[in-house]
Amino acid sequence: MTEVQLQEFKLEPDSELRFEVESKNEKVVLEVKSGYAELFGTELVKAKPYEFHTGAKVAVFTWHGCTVELRGKTEVSYVAKETPMVVYLNVHAALEQQRVAAEQESTRGPVTMVVGPGDVGKSTLTRILLNYAVRMGRRPIYVDLDVGQGHISVPGTIGALLVERPASIEEGFSQQAPLVYHFGHSSPGENLELYNTIVGRLAEVIAERCENNKKASTSGVIINTCGWIKGDGYKVLSHAAQAFEVDVILVLDNERLYNELKRDMPKFVKVVYLPKSGGVVERSSTQRAEARDARIREYFYGKRTPYYPHSFDVKFNDLKIYKVGAPSLPASCMPLGMRAADALTKVVQVSPSGALQHRVLAVSFAAGPHDDVLHSNLAGFVCVSVPSTIFIYIILQHRVLAVSFAAGPHDDVLHSNLAGFV
Ligand code: ADP
Repeated sequence: MTEVQLQEFKLEPDSELRFEVESKNEKVVLEVKSGYAELFGTELVKAKPYEFHTGAKVAVFTWHGCTVELRGKTEVSYVAKETPMVVYLNVHAALEQQRVAAEQESTRGPVTMVVGPGDVGKSTLTRILLNYAVRMGRRPIYVDLDVGQGHISVPGTIGALLVERPASIEEGFSQQAPLVYHFGHSSPGENLELYNTIVGRLAEVIAERCENNKKASTSGVIINTCGWIKGDGYKVLSHAAQAFEVDVILVLDNERLYNELKRDMPKFVKVVYLPKSGGVVERSSTQRAEARDARIREYFYGKRTPYYPHSFDVKFNDLKIYKVGAPSLPASCMPLGMRAADALTKVVQVSPSGALQHRVLAVSFAAGPHDDVLHSNLAGFVCVSVPSTIFIYIILQHRVLAVSFAAGPHDDVLHSNLAGFV
């Protein structure tokens, strides 16, 4: 249902306006007319227009009451009085107490991991907690382990950021100097061994950096995770909790996961159950795939600030392309002392071929193939958009072709005689 073009909402204290933009190429402009409001923890500036585009699912929350105006076609827009924001604020207050204690005792601040099934608001809660922390003058580290719908870099990677200012309403957290590791798939299940390896590496690097940055260390870390929580997914979460030595696990909307973690985590880890917001919108697998495509497009072309990527030719001799993971062999065929799982983290050279076209390759900081490619972070990404002619050239190299007298491909090539050879 499409609603009217201009809408004004009066929000009472402790309530939120939720709206979605669905129609293609649609733009909705939000403006706070009076009072104070925030969007997922970022304070909104009065009388400043904020634009939202197709696919946006937004909640404008107010602690003190406000008047908000929406211009443009929204798929749905309503005011909700029931929100879990007070509970989330209490979590923030508890984390803040731990930061104060860490500052006084010169120890590490709280390392918090947000877990739960898909579409329960994990990324949103992570964003709210980071925004509240930074608004208190903290410099927390944001870690995103969600390779499918993460918010640092492109899908298929995990990463971390030092958060120094609240997330921008339209563009999220500033991505000035993220620490990113390559995974290459949209779910950890595609290569568990590799996923656990890079999660372990990210945790190590963050621990090292915290040793040299006291402010970040006392502010703590907030980790967002994937929505895969059963079977191997649970093992992946437990491994991440161990690797980052988490102090707090916030479980959103899943009692089974909460009880399992309570049972399995060491006693000093606080496992807290939190309700999900009624506003969180479920996404279909098509919407998830579209969101992934949008993130990749955003990486190359920017979101609000446009980027102008340029293409250039590189000789295949000048670059080395690798993929991670060799085909796994049955245990009986493995050389002595090697596990079948080792093949999953093996770096294999790939020869350039048409199969690379339209693929996104990660550019590693590793100095050479013998350096530890898996343990090196990424400099950026390139998209292979080679014109087919170059590939034809490569594929046909060193072959002799017959030139036919046939006038076109639909003429009888087999029955025409030859003009010569090239
Ligand atoms: P998860 O990380 O658990 O998959 P997200 O935090 O990404 O879930 O939330 C899913 C979607 O719901 C996002 O598009 C987000 O903007 C939206 N959303 C979250 N909280 C609210 C809310 N209170 N009102 C409206 N939309 C919301």
